[in-house]
Order: sequence, then C-alpha cells, then structure tokens
Amino acid sequence: MAVSRLGWDLLEPSSSRLVSFKWITGKVRKGDGEVILDYLCQRFNSEVEPIVKAWSWGYAKRDVREAAGIPSEHQTGWAIDLNAPIHGLGLVDTFSRSDESAIHRILKDLGGAVRWGGDYAGRKDEMHFELQGGLANLKRVADEIRAGQVGEVKPTGNTSKPKPKPSSKRPTDYANLATDGVFGDKSQRAVQILMSQLGLYERAIDGDAGRYTWEAVQTWLNGLGYYQRAIDGKPGRYTIAALQQFLRKKGLYPASKWRVDGDFGPATVEAFQRYLNTQNGQ
Ligand SMILES: [Zn+2]
Repeated sequence: MAVSRLGWDLLEPSSSRLVSFKWITGKVRKGDGEVILDYLCQRFNSEVEPIVKAWSWGYAKRDVREAAGIPSEHQTGWAIDLNAPIHGLGLVDTFSRSDESAIHRILKDLGGAVRWGGDYAGRKDEMHFELQGGLANLKRVADEIRAGQVGEVKPTGNTSKPKPKPSSKRPTDYANLATDGVFGDKSQRAVQILMSQLGLYERAIDGDAGRYTWEAVQTWLNGLGYYQRAIDGKPGRYTIAALQQFLRKKGLYPASKWRVDGDFGPATVEAFQRYLNTQNGQ
C-alpha cells in the first residue's frame, strides 16, 4: 500500500472516505482526523484570523510541490491549507508573532496530532497543517475533543524571549521600509512585491502603484473579508477604510489613536509600512 511520508495511506478522488468540510473548499478524510481538523479550524478562526473558505483547501491528488514522485499529504485527506493566498508557500513570517504563538498554543493542546508547515526545518509552508503521529494518537486526541477535554488555554503573559527572525530564507527582493508615513516609490514597490507573492499581481514591480496594484490590494482585502465593493483599482474611501480595519486587526492602527475614516494619510501609510515590514523583515 502506498503511504505518505507521515505514514498515512493515499486516497483516490472518488474515495467514499472523503467528505466535505465546512471550513474549506474541498474535502478531508472523515473520522478522527476530521474531528481534529475541525477543532483546529474553529480555534484558528477565532484566535488567529478568520478562515476564508475560498482561500482554503484540503484533499488533492498530487505530489509535493517541486518534488515529483513524493505524494503530498494532501493526497491522504489529512492535510489542509488555510488562507493560502496570504500565507504563500516558501514565505516566512506571514503571521504576526502573536498569531504564531496562538497557533503553537492550539497545536500544543492537540497533543502532537497536528504539524504546521510554518515549523518545517526547510522550506516553510505557513498555510499548511497536517495530521501526524499514528492512528492511536489521533483517536486519543479526537476522543478528548469529543469529550470536551481539550481546553482553550488563554494566552498568559508571554515571558519568553522573542525568537530571532530568520533572515536567510527571506525573499531577497524586499525593501526594509522607513516607517515615515510617506507612500513613496519604495513603499509602493513593497506593496507590489507582496501582492505578486500572494499571486494577485503579475505586472512590473516598478514602485508606481496604479490601477493594477490597487486591484490586487482590493482583491486581497476582499478575500480577507474587509472589502465588499467593486474591484476597480481606485484606492477610494472604502478601500482605505478596509485597509485601516485590516491594520487595526493586526494591532498596527489602534482605535485609541486613529479612526477608520478612509483617509490614506500619514498614520495609515505608516501602519501599512509597518505591516509590510512584518512581511518583508527588517
Ligand atoms: Zn498544503
């Protein structure tokens, strides 16, 4: 029997063991693993960020990307990708440090049954979660979830030292932006690079954000649930208000200091620069 690297048997697309899964577009394998993935998604959705169904998927019959002949864990029905376009394969630090702590907290509660692609030693895959550790452990953890025994551990004061940011695996192409509140060509270039890494922008990285760059930003904010209007490439009031709401969620545009007013002024630009730097590294 063909098995994945984590020891699970592979499923064919027609398998009756694959079932729809409400958090994603696609399917997962039913049973204990499904219970664990559902619990993971519930907590990710409330403690990390909202899951965008259209940007999240599960079962796929394919090999590991850029590794022909090695079946992907997605082929077992026990791997999922969450909010894939904003946590692109190979990128690092697509989550804030506190979001990353929340992920680790959830995985700890899940008793080793889930591995996160952001913890891979080699190429990171921050969208990716997969089941591991054998059937007996899956059953044990799933039974605990069914019995309501897996606790939601509230975050306590984080006393551990911040871990050093990896530098060697960063995209080399990124600028370290001055957080000066001026949306100059370097900032515009950083937006274009981020959008292109998310697969939303395919044109020139020229530091001149025009219609196509802003269409990408609108599409990105729309996918995250912050922007509901037309994708017209015009950074109007609703687009900027959506950006401000997103930055507020990331803790970069606090309600105590600034209003969500749709004005692309220095405070908003500076918060956006800080966000871009969390993506690009400093
Ligand atoms: Zn994946």
